[in-house]
Amino acid sequence: MNAQVHIRSVAAEIGPLLQRLGVRPQAVSEGDLAVTSPVSGERIAQVKTMPADEVGTRIERAHETFLEWRKVPAPRRGELVRLFGNELRAAKADLGRLVTLETGKILSEGLGEVQEMIDICDFAVGLSRQLYGLTMATERAEHRMMETWHPLGVVGVISAFNFPVAVWSWNAALALVCGDPVVWKPSEKTPLTALAVQSLFERAATQFGGAPEALSQVLIGGREVGEALVDHPKVPLVSATGSTAMGRQVAPRLAARFARTLLELGGNNAAIVCPSADLELALRAIAFAAMGTAGQRCTTLRRLIVHESVYNALVDRLKSAYTSVRVGDPRESGTLVGPLIDEAAYARMERALNAAKAAGGVVTGGERLSAPGAGAYVRPALVEMPQQTDIVREETFAPILYVLRYREFEDALRIHNDVPQGLSSSIFTRDLREAERFLAVDGSDCGIANVNIGPSGAEIGGAFGGEKATGGGREAGSDCWKTYMRRATNTINYGNTLPLAQGVRFDL
Ligand code: NAD
Repeated sequence: MNAQVHIRSVAAEIGPLLQRLGVRPQAVSEGDLAVTSPVSGERIAQVKTMPADEVGTRIERAHETFLEWRKVPAPRRGELVRLFGNELRAAKADLGRLVTLETGKILSEGLGEVQEMIDICDFAVGLSRQLYGLTMATERAEHRMMETWHPLGVVGVISAFNFPVAVWSWNAALALVCGDPVVWKPSEKTPLTALAVQSLFERAATQFGGAPEALSQVLIGGREVGEALVDHPKVPLVSATGSTAMGRQVAPRLAARFARTLLELGGNNAAIVCPSADLELALRAIAFAAMGTAGQRCTTLRRLIVHESVYNALVDRLKSAYTSVRVGDPRESGTLVGPLIDEAAYARMERALNAAKAAGGVVTGGERLSAPGAGAYVRPALVEMPQQTDIVREETFAPILYVLRYREFEDALRIHNDVPQGLSSSIFTRDLREAERFLAVDGSDCGIANVNIGPSGAEIGGAFGGEKATGGGREAGSDCWKTYMRRATNTINYGNTLPLAQGVRFDL
């Protein structure tokens, strides 16, 4: 194969970058886990994994820490998160670049991911003074009823490769102000960014003075380490981000010990383009949502449902965007699409395109642009489908956009919701009734529903997550903090009598 992308080596820049981020050279040179950069296919580090039987000791330490940290006033806990946010600000350029080197996302998205961490820290600092409980009206005279929110315990975080640091921060920033230590098992594909974040956190903890020792820990390893975290009785909440297949394994184990779950699993996100849509705006939104991050966001646009009256106008322009978009070294300005995470991801993309073709799909793009072993660079694929077949209902974690045609709005909604996943969704329309219908009870069944913007690129202020096979969890803003705390309802009698609720009499 003739390589059509030219990639500079990444090996030389990794060492200095890690050093500036405070990661010890021995931590990344002498281990058993090989780390490969998707940018060049080079091996860039050897990281030490944790034996699964050591996980329990780490969790016990985190639990001891919890017993202290829960008594620190929440605004003081917020001060630690504020300092950590400052460290992130100072290290944004380096950490963002490391995200790019380890995941292959373009530099502006690598930096955007770190900005998202900074944003959630700011949010959490404010929240540390707003962990409000309600006071409720009571039916009994001279009584008061209220709710109190207490820290929950050790929070386990399992994260996916594609947002190697932001997902942890959505959980950790909130958990820490809520009074909970965090034990993090990052993806085995992205341990370097996790080690860098841990080192930045330790800098903040030193400045804070008096932070208990095991507030944040990283457990490098694969599935067995994740399972040990999931099964440990002193982890009352596990927030797990990854594929639906992973969620299916993790959820029953957590349910068996009555632990809380926060599941952020796969998506199969769609957009409906209506006859009145602003096609110029829709085109730009679709291009970013479908091709950005090389199709490796949970919120990537995977299905486009277009009204027949605007189908040709939109799809012709999209095809030209697909054939001209710049695919290449994610460090170069002008590149919009970097590599897939690895060769296995490319193989899955190829299989999906073959299945789509066998089901009558017509493919534009999808060609491999690099030699095997030199990064999995591929042109994003736009696939016109005669109908929503089985392969369209699956999440293939690659830049494939299936395009479907509709005539009646009700059909568009039916196609939209007729997939197992329920993460994110969009409608492009200037018709108020269509927009409102999409957001209404019988409209989109997703956790995120947007109008005239694409399904990806969420802000931290809103609750993030989805329904059905996406797992039902919610992270980041709004009132998601409640997941990290336990609620006690308190009733206080300040009178001299003992009236019983519901008028019950029990007179001795
Ligand atoms: P993955 O499921 O292969 O791995 C995710 C994490 O789960 C890794 O850390 C892995 O080691 C761990 N894991 C796997 N099996 C486990 C088990 N049995 N017990 C405990 N831990 C286990 O996912 P991936 O390839 O890294 O990421 C891509 C997937 O993640 C896509 O499906 C994407 O949609 C999803 N994702 C979802 C969100 C969201 O917020 N909904 C965000 C990012 C990614």
